[in-house]
Amino acid sequence: MTSLIRHLNCATMSPTGSMGGRLMPARMVCHSLLVEGPDSLTLVDTGFGTEDIAQKRMGKLFIGLVGPVLDQGETAASRVKAAGYAIDDVTDVVVTHLDLDHAGGLPDFPKAKVHVFADELAAARDPKGVNEKNRYIQAQWAHGPSWVEHTLPDRLSAGDGWLGFESVARISDDLLMVPTRGHTRGHVAVAVRRPSGGWFLHAGDAYFSHGEKEQPATCPPGLKAFQSIVQVDSKARHANQDRLRSFHAEHGPAAGTAEPVTMFCAHDAAEFDALADVTD
Ligand SMILES: [Zn+2]
Repeated sequence: MTSLIRHLNCATMSPTGSMGGRLMPARMVCHSLLVEGPDSLTLVDTGFGTEDIAQKRMGKLFIGLVGPVLDQGETAASRVKAAGYAIDDVTDVVVTHLDLDHAGGLPDFPKAKVHVFADELAAARDPKGVNEKNRYIQAQWAHGPSWVEHTLPDRLSAGDGWLGFESVARISDDLLMVPTRGHTRGHVAVAVRRPSGGWFLHAGDAYFSHGEKEQPATCPPGLKAFQSIVQVDSKARHANQDRLRSFHAEHGPAAGTAEPVTMFCAHDAAEFDALADVTD
């Protein structure tokens, strides 16, 4: 059973030319979770790592456009220590996908098992086309993580589903991977059971702006364009965003179900701020 969940911001970003938030959000975050179980400590997504910041290995173009603050105090390693744990206490890392701003912390937790969707690991190891070749930083897994590859079951059975999703990959009864490909080849959302009841759903980069949970037209235009530019599969991305939108309507906190699901994405600062001090 999950006993404690913390929300960590593992990188602040200030996109250039945000026009005070009209074109792009003025401030973005890398929303990670630290999930304590009886015999495990699990990070969900890792932001940028110590070496990414030291070597500025995200590259000049990324740094110029996205404006990461490059603060070592914001790395997952620093956040884990600030929360009172040792690095080696982290037993597992789950990644929504392996983009540079999600996998950066992997080398800082070399002993942890790293749970990834098999299609995503295949894309990262052998990227196809310009889009995939530009988005992954091989140095982030050059240390050889203990990968745990997850797939969906070949044949669906009744127990495979979760709240209307017909098939999810189970890391445990409290930690699920919900396939949401489109942004990348093997992107997943990660569901974490809350000790206080219900679930968190970390939607990764399946959407980018809190308003998209209800109304896609509310997304700032620069961010909307960015999502299209970096996607690998437009049709799948839009279908999955629609799916998450209806899921939020049916299972979000306002729906009044027995198992409410609080969904958030990786980079929306308003969603992070609303949860930053929630520990449950
Ligand atoms: Zn991202």
